[in-house]
Amino acid sequence: MSDEVRVRYAPSPTGMQHIGGVRTALFNYLYARSRGGKFILRLEDTDRTRYDEKYVKNLYDTMAWLGIDWDEGGDKGGEYGPYVQSERFELYKKYAMELVEKGEAYYCFCDSERLERIRKIQTENKLPPGYDRNCRHLTAEEVSANLAAGKPYVIRLKVPLEGETKFHDHLLGDIVWKNEDISPDPILLKSDGFPTYHLANIVDDHLMHITHVMRAQEWIPSTPLHVQMYRSFGWQHPEFCHLPMVNGSDGKKLSKRHGSTSLNEFRARGYLPQAIVNYVALLGCSYEDGRDMYTLSELAAGFKLEHLNKAPAVFDYKKLEWYNGQYIRALTDEELYKWTLPFITGTGDAALEINPDNPQPKPKVGPEYSGVALGEDGEPYCTDSSMGMTSADVKKHLLELMPLIKERLHFLTDAAEMVRFLFTEPVVPPKTDIIPKKLDEAKTREVLEKSVSFIESLPSLDHEAAEALAKKDAEELGIKLGDFMMPIRLAVTGSRVSPPLIGSILILGVDKAVARVNKTLETF
Ligand code: GLU
Repeated sequence: MSDEVRVRYAPSPTGMQHIGGVRTALFNYLYARSRGGKFILRLEDTDRTRYDEKYVKNLYDTMAWLGIDWDEGGDKGGEYGPYVQSERFELYKKYAMELVEKGEAYYCFCDSERLERIRKIQTENKLPPGYDRNCRHLTAEEVSANLAAGKPYVIRLKVPLEGETKFHDHLLGDIVWKNEDISPDPILLKSDGFPTYHLANIVDDHLMHITHVMRAQEWIPSTPLHVQMYRSFGWQHPEFCHLPMVNGSDGKKLSKRHGSTSLNEFRARGYLPQAIVNYVALLGCSYEDGRDMYTLSELAAGFKLEHLNKAPAVFDYKKLEWYNGQYIRALTDEELYKWTLPFITGTGDAALEINPDNPQPKPKVGPEYSGVALGEDGEPYCTDSSMGMTSADVKKHLLELMPLIKERLHFLTDAAEMVRFLFTEPVVPPKTDIIPKKLDEAKTREVLEKSVSFIESLPSLDHEAAEALAKKDAEELGIKLGDFMMPIRLAVTGSRVSPPLIGSILILGVDKAVARVNKTLETF
């Protein structure tokens, strides 16, 4: 066997991809890439009751969105395929029987009534739950007779009754587990011939030549059992590395209570994949040069198992938000247009489901907030036809606005409201909103009157000169710059939060801006 590293992400498609799963996938991917190895994607779809095709689709979709690519498996195939467990059922049966023949596993004919009876007695007597190993002692004749009578059966592993199971974990060191603490003779093959997670997982890790199992720490209790199964088969087990926990700020396991956890939700809330990848890669792992920002390929080059932390990682939404802002600012204007358009038009990522339990307010995205929708031709259009804009105008304006909004976005979702002033005629805000705290009505009227000449001179000035003029105008009125700009901002954009004012006016056009100021003046 070569010493090529082969790792896998083996999700069960019984739910949407969440941050914990993504962390496992990412660390496996990074380890494979850092070692020039292979990253395998295996679908562990043995639980048919919770299976849903939409979860499989969500898996592929999430991986593609994050840019995590795999070498074998999933819908790609490979040398050791198929990589979808439901397509391998016959195989598991064969291996279960092999263990029976070796005396390492046995037929169990206990029916559900009997198992229920044992469970009841155990609960009543406060005994640990589990199978009482009744069928472990059946004679060969009894087994044959039961089989001949067509009695349903499961196959159970013969877990050693004494001794210990030892294994080494890359992160946690040597782990010793008393065999009496391993679940008593767990089922490998169910009565319908389907394998359990344990059997399918071990058989596949072996047949797919997995060298390292990297998975969440919650799987540690299963590992002694897996080590016993490898021993029963006479196979060498892979190396184990159980990844540090990811907790919320209260030290409890990260869950919906803390905020978004499903990747779709992060997408719908306007996060960039670059930010998620960068932040998640640092959850429980450090890098030699201790920087904050890493691209996926830099992470892949620098990943080391020795740099994993034992302590649980704390998921800090504020820090992730910081990353998001950084990556938004790193986009070109064209890229930012591409990323924000779905949020401006309420399509794509913006239309993904938001968890209704999440206490965060729903993002204000789509035509209702921006005045821009997406046409069937895939081009944006202005929903207010009286604005007289073609699709090309809309696109041009949006592109012009990108450098201005880039500095101000925390999330891609913020873009929708920020572009609104270009595509809708704002309602004149009430005077009480327009008049700054330090000014009175008469002074505010003066500001608006003076702003007309200010706005009209903007096209002939560069940015510095325009700012100097605003300062001069404010001084002449004996007021602060902010108190000069705010009434103009409200008149021109209808909102307190808009992209930088001077640039916004230039994109909107001087005539429209002046008309909006005059309309506002009518209310004074
Ligand atoms: N199918 C398991 C899961 O859903 C895989 C656990 C493992 O990596 O062994 O997480």
